[in-house]
Parts: sequence; structure tokens; C-alpha cells
Amino acid sequence: MTVRSEILPSWCPGCSNFVILNAFDSVIDELSRDGKIDVRKLIVNSGIGCHGKIFDYLNISGVNALHGRSIPLSLGIKLANKDLKVVCFVGDGDMYAEGLEHLIHASRYNIDVKVFVHNNETFALTTGQSAPTSKKGFKSKVRPEGERVEPLDPILLLLASNASFVARAYALDQESLKQIFKEALLHKGFAVVDILQPCVSFNDFRNEVRDRLMKIENPLKSREEAISFHFQSIKDGKIPIGVYFKEERKTFEEVEQIEKVYSRLKRKIDLKKLIEDFVIQ
Ligand code: SF4
Repeated sequence: MTVRSEILPSWCPGCSNFVILNAFDSVIDELSRDGKIDVRKLIVNSGIGCHGKIFDYLNISGVNALHGRSIPLSLGIKLANKDLKVVCFVGDGDMYAEGLEHLIHASRYNIDVKVFVHNNETFALTTGQSAPTSKKGFKSKVRPEGERVEPLDPILLLLASNASFVARAYALDQESLKQIFKEALLHKGFAVVDILQPCVSFNDFRNEVRDRLMKIENPLKSREEAISFHFQSIKDGKIPIGVYFKEERKTFEEVEQIEKVYSRLKRKIDLKKLIEDFVIQ
């Protein structure tokens, strides 16, 4: 069963976002046919950027959130109904600039939300300004002489922030992208996939990536090993694709015993008494 809507995508011809959309649609089809995902209990939120249009192209409930705020929105949805499976599509500017603090704390908390980052290393929707993951030397309208500082490293940040599932995918390798989507969707806890997503209009890094790709066959056994492996791959000039690290641990919802919060919320609130108790002294 496809989850594509009837809206025609307005992405540029040749944009790698088309591959991400198709891969996600195909994985949801497979997982729902296998009974592993109930599409009626699936929520897709997105942020602001070219990626955000994916919200219109999927026939799934959700919210097109404010810039960088998909994660707190998703947490709110999980607190209201912990049985929903919540997915965020976000952009690199959206998540690694505006929404960065949410990413770090959601990693620590291990909220049961999946985050798929369309990382084209630029603010593409606003015509290609440099973003936190733009490489040093990247030329844009705001930095015509080239970006002056080194980029943020999302994989290292996520590993250091205690994320329970950290992966990188390449948008143009559809088969491995599908596999990583599947693993992330079935992971219990906070799963983040940084998807290298060449932007054919403002930052087409296909050639650079193609020559440096390497597959991670199995996740590293510990967070420390994953971090060492990551540093070594940078030294070797390689770009690993796959799951760096995953672990099973209690989610935020379990630690905070959300069920008890539900029962408190269900109690009838006497608003007049509440105001008298807390406001009028
Ligand atoms: S600007 Fe780049 S990311 Fe945005 S739709 Fe066009 S090719 Fe895709």
C-alpha cells in the first residue's frame, strides 16, 4: 500500500529528495504488509526547508512544524499518545542550526522518535546559503569567498550525546537507504539517520561522495569503538554508510512512567480551586 499522496512534488528535477520519498514509501509498504507498522498509528512531522515538502507528498497524519521544532512537537505527540510511531523528516539547517538543542537533549532522553535528516550541507530552500554542515571553503551568497570554519560533525555529536541509534545513509544508494530506514523505524528509542542528500541546484557533492563511500557491515560494539571508527574514517578520507551504533535502553516515556501522567491528566480538574490554590493568596 503506497503512502504517497496525489500532490505532485515541486522539488527541482533530479533532486535526491525524490529517492528519499520513494525509499520511505516502499519501506512503509513492506513493514505494514509484514504487520510491523500500523500506518493508522504512524505520524510524520517535518520542519522547514526543501525536505519539509515531503509532508505534502505523504498521505500520513502529522504536522509541518516551525523551523527546527519537529522534535519537541514529536515529544508532545508521544506524551499525548505513547502508542503512536512518530517520525520527523528534518533538514540540516533545520536540525543542526535552529533545532540543535532539541537533538542533543532528545538523544540524552532517548525519546521514542525517529529523525531522518536530509543533509544537503546548505540552506537549499533559501537558495544555497552556508549551513552548519557546509564544508570549509563552500562558496555561497553569504560567503562568496568560501566558508571559513570547519563544519559541524553530526555523527560525532550524536554519538557523544548518547543517541541510542546513530546511522548515516546516502540518498542515492536507495537499497542501503531502505535498509537503514527499516532498522531505524523498528528501533525502540531515539533513532537518527543523517542522510547525505546532494542538492543538484546549490550543492551537488555526488562526485565527492561516490569516490569515498564505504559500507559499515555491522554496527560497532560500543559507543567508544564507534567514535574511534568515525575518527579513523575521517583520517582515511572515507565516508561510512550504515548503522554506526545502536543499543537497547529504556526510553524517556518508560523512565518518566508516562502511564502515571496519563492517569493524572484523566482526573477532573477543578479550575476554580486550582486558581485559588496557586494564584490568589
Ligand atoms: S534546491 Fe536542492 S534540495 Fe531543494 S529541491 Fe532543488 S535540488 Fe532539491
